[in-house]
Amino acid sequence: MAGRSGKAAAGGGAGLVLRAGARLAGMRHHGLAASHRWWTTASSTQGVSRGMEITCQPDDRLLVFAPHPDDESLACGGLIRRARNAGADVRVVVATNGDTNPWPQRLTERRWRLDRDAVDRWAALRTSEARAALHAMGVHADHAHFLQWADQGLTTRLVHDGEASVAELARIIRLHRPTLVAMPSIHDSHPDHSALAILLNAALRAESSPARLLSYWLHGRGSRTADAPMCVTLTADELATKRAAALCHDSQTHFGKSRLLNFVNATERFLHPSMAMQATGQPWCWQFNAAVPLALASARRLRVVGISAGGALRAESLELRTSTDAGLRITRRGPRSLQVELQPLWTEPGWITAKLDTDHRINVYDAFGWLDRHPPPRDMSQLACEAPAQPHTVGAGNGVIHGTETIEP
Ligand SMILES: [Zn+2]
Repeated sequence: MAGRSGKAAAGGGAGLVLRAGARLAGMRHHGLAASHRWWTTASSTQGVSRGMEITCQPDDRLLVFAPHPDDESLACGGLIRRARNAGADVRVVVATNGDTNPWPQRLTERRWRLDRDAVDRWAALRTSEARAALHAMGVHADHAHFLQWADQGLTTRLVHDGEASVAELARIIRLHRPTLVAMPSIHDSHPDHSALAILLNAALRAESSPARLLSYWLHGRGSRTADAPMCVTLTADELATKRAAALCHDSQTHFGKSRLLNFVNATERFLHPSMAMQATGQPWCWQFNAAVPLALASARRLRVVGISAGGALRAESLELRTSTDAGLRITRRGPRSLQVELQPLWTEPGWITAKLDTDHRINVYDAFGWLDRHPPPRDMSQLACEAPAQPHTVGAGNGVIHGTETIEP
């Protein structure tokens, strides 16, 4: 909490301070600059881990990236308020206008057909709601930046227009020189969130940003952020402000306010972004686990993204049913799980991630999210031995997809 002692200042730079709990457990590197450190804590209360409490100093510069209008409030409302109360500079970048939002718009406007004018009208509404929310949190109107990228189009942008997108994000980072960046998580099941996380990974590397990075996970997280290493425990003022900011997004309350207010909790939790560099000499391996069994049948392509130490972004898309890439081997590991092994596409070291994409979605959320590349599992050679005498082909291509029906132990 804001008044607790036990601060452990990071090395150099502006005065972001993380207040740890009662017991300091060690030191770790964070952000992109190895020279910056802070303490971590292993404190817990009744089995629930509590991360380091984040506080801000007047010379901090917080840069928040939101894929859609409302993410800034729902993920970072308490953090933004805390930074502003401390006198820190806060800038907010909203990547899309949130205009691909047909059902709330249809119900609000009582019209079925949404033409270009209707989409523009919804974009203007959502942008104005975001501006109102930022005003409620004390962010200056000139400190909001709307990129107007295509809503529900950030994965496409990542794959087909990655370099230009990284350059635009890098320009913003260069301009504001943040000491602290709040950004979505690659693990978020909303594809716009995960794609923006990857683009930011590259942009932050390109700028060699020394900022400390806070990754927020809004969709599909379950209880997996319960032991997040960093947090904002909201004061009464921060909680009230966050609630007011969330409710500024009135267009998102048509099915009830609970969707927004579920995010207005006593604690905002933040993870360290997944950015570890990996050697490229070994096969790249991933195991994708779907939330529902049918998702495997709709998997059509493997997206692979690599980011170099200098922030250069490369992307490949391999069609599973038609690929002739002999280096691609996909093995069914059960009704919901595929194991993918791919010979390295690029030679330089980098951060490598991949996802399975489907042609059809039940909703906007990913059936399979982006995964960091793993070293070959210990049982990969064993896996080859487990293949049945006549492996069945899941796809209709050249047999690169083999099914073993082996259940992971
Ligand atoms: Zn969002």
